[in-house]
Amino acid sequence: MPTAFVILSLLAALVPGASPEYVPAAVPSSSEYAAAAVPGSSSEYVPAGDEAYDLDLEVGGYVNGAMDSDRLMTYRSCTLERDAAYMYALLLEAAEADGIRFSPVDCYRSYGNQRAAYNRRCPESEVDVYAVDPMTGERAPAGTKTVRVCTGPPTARPGYSNHGWGRAVDFGDGSGVLGCNDRALRWLQGNAYRFGWVHPRWAWCDMSTREPWHWEWAGVTDPTLVGYYEFNEELIKIIQ
Ligand SMILES: [Zn+2]
Repeated sequence: MPTAFVILSLLAALVPGASPEYVPAAVPSSSEYAAAAVPGSSSEYVPAGDEAYDLDLEVGGYVNGAMDSDRLMTYRSCTLERDAAYMYALLLEAAEADGIRFSPVDCYRSYGNQRAAYNRRCPESEVDVYAVDPMTGERAPAGTKTVRVCTGPPTARPGYSNHGWGRAVDFGDGSGVLGCNDRALRWLQGNAYRFGWVHPRWAWCDMSTREPWHWEWAGVTDPTLVGYYEFNEELIKIIQ
């Protein structure tokens, strides 16, 4: 039996809802979550840990942007970390049942690809530096320095993007990345958490750093379990 199949079978046994019936019976509806977890503010549900879960990968010795190919899986041309990929596949299946068809624009990014993206978005440029003469008060050239000037949506430095862990997807609808008014985005806001996928707060549409397309895998489908995944230094010491 191939290893990947064994892993998937194990996952299917462990993850609620990871059976052919993808709707987890025990998970409350999205409206119940919204009411309980985000009082008054928004219909978008965000678990306590609203970003990609990567502690297991770090502890396992994996390197951001240099993920072991054994740990990556490609599903419909989107390469992701194995666990994230599995739940991503279930998410797509559920979306299609609701008439939403996603096409990913970006999934796993190698360190080199992230560096290229960062350099494109935040190119280095030389700027003149001036110093004020304490005697005369005049400004005089004092050499140059190199700075990075970033434009557009935020791009993580190489080695720091959750795309480098294979646990982030930039969702598209076939004609580019998702926009803030897209029906497909509303579907994600109401359903993605059921598959462990979350929208980090900085990427919401009410933020200047908005990236409606950027979603991350938080490692759990039951948001009440998110607390277990918080960084615990004592636990890390024991594991090491
Ligand atoms: Zn992204």
